[in-house]
Amino acid sequence: PYVIAAPCIDVMDKSCIEECPVDCIYEGERKLYINPKECIDCGACEPVCPVEAISQDRRAPDPEFVEDNRRFFTEL
Ligand code: SF4
Repeated sequence: PYVIAAPCIDVMDKSCIEECPVDCIYEGERKLYINPKECIDCGACEPVCPVEAISQDRRAPDPEFVEDNRRFFTEL
C-alpha cells in the first residue's frame, strides 16, 4: 500500500482524497492516513500531492510513518 509521510503534517491539502478511487484516505488530527487494508496500490494519489508526501510503503523515505500509519488504523 501507499503511505503518507511527514510533509503532510499541518498541510492536509486533500487533493489525494479526491483522487483515490476506493476512498481509503482518512483525516487524522494533523495529517492524512491511507488505510493499508483498503489501498489497491493504484498510485493515483502520489502525483497529485503538492508536498510529495505520498509514496509506496516499500519506497517510503521514513519507515516511522509506515508504523505511525499502522498505529492510526489500529486505534480507530
Ligand atoms: Fe487510494 Fe490508489 Fe493512493 Fe491507494 S494508491 S491511497 S488506492 S489513490
